[in-house]
Amino acid sequence: MNTTLDNLTVLDHTGHAEAGVGYLEMREFNRFVWAWAEGARITTWLYSAGNLNSTSETDVRVDSSATASINLPATWLAADEISRLLQQLNRFPTPEDAANNKIGASLAIDLGKAVATADYRWPREEKPHYVHHMRCGGCEQLTLTFRPPRWAGDKIKVDCWCGYELTEAEFALAALIIKTDLEAAA
Ligand SMILES: [Zn+2]
Repeated sequence: MNTTLDNLTVLDHTGHAEAGVGYLEMREFNRFVWAWAEGARITTWLYSAGNLNSTSETDVRVDSSATASINLPATWLAADEISRLLQQLNRFPTPEDAANNKIGASLAIDLGKAVATADYRWPREEKPHYVHHMRCGGCEQLTLTFRPPRWAGDKIKVDCWCGYELTEAEFALAALIIKTDLEAAA
């Protein structure tokens, strides 16, 4: 346990027993800061992963006429949870603000856990892979390819051999629409 004077001064206004920020322990706070920065990107990855690394039971069919036995993949449920937490944390301008608020701190802990768990369960791939649950908007085939960032700061891209292309934000929105359709049909 780090008990330097610097850390102790952080404690003065929080009354927390251990070094930390607001209601969070330092370990929780650090994980939260990471999770908040990575959350959106991990959500996009989870949507693209679909049923990756899971059994066929959780396969998703985009065909809207298939109303029977719709199962959302576990990756999508995790993405849903992370998006919800990120949205609720939106009202806090900085991680410190969230940590100093009781509800914010609780959300921060949940987000840290959710993102860390997803990151562990579905390690992000370095290689491009097909998106199995979304048809190409250009040629209507299941040929969209998810291209992960190639270097730090690089953008995620989803594209097709036919020339059709989606940005990270467009892809996330398209995934959300499919998900909402599936839920409405279920
Ligand atoms: Zn295409």
